[in-house]
Amino acid sequence: MRKETLAAGGASALGKTRRGFCMSKYSIGINKKWCKSCGICIDFCPKNVLGFDEDGKVTLVNEEDCIGCEMCERRCPDYAIKVEGKAK
Ligand code: SF4
Ligand code: SF4
Repeated sequence: MRKETLAAGGASALGKTRRGFCMSKYSIGINKKWCKSCGICIDFCPKNVLGFDEDGKVTLVNEEDCIGCEMCERRCPDYAIKVEGKAK
């Protein structure tokens, strides 16, 4: 079973970061229009950074723990996730 659905608010659109302070060096862009809610990225993320929002789309639930491994980006069959290192 996939991780539980979480309320929207931590989600990022592609190219945009969520509001608020974040310790992670990485930025995860999620294109929700392309996401088909398969959950592959959630299953492969080693740090439980990703979850589902109330619409069943992937969202960030624990962005500060992202280690930039890019497993989510590489495993997404729809190219809906982009991992980028944050500028200093
Ligand atoms: S792997 Fe891609 S399509 Fe599947 S849930 Fe994650 S972002 Fe959506
Ligand atoms: S880059 Fe790695 S740690 Fe970060 S969200 Fe993707 S799979 Fe998880």
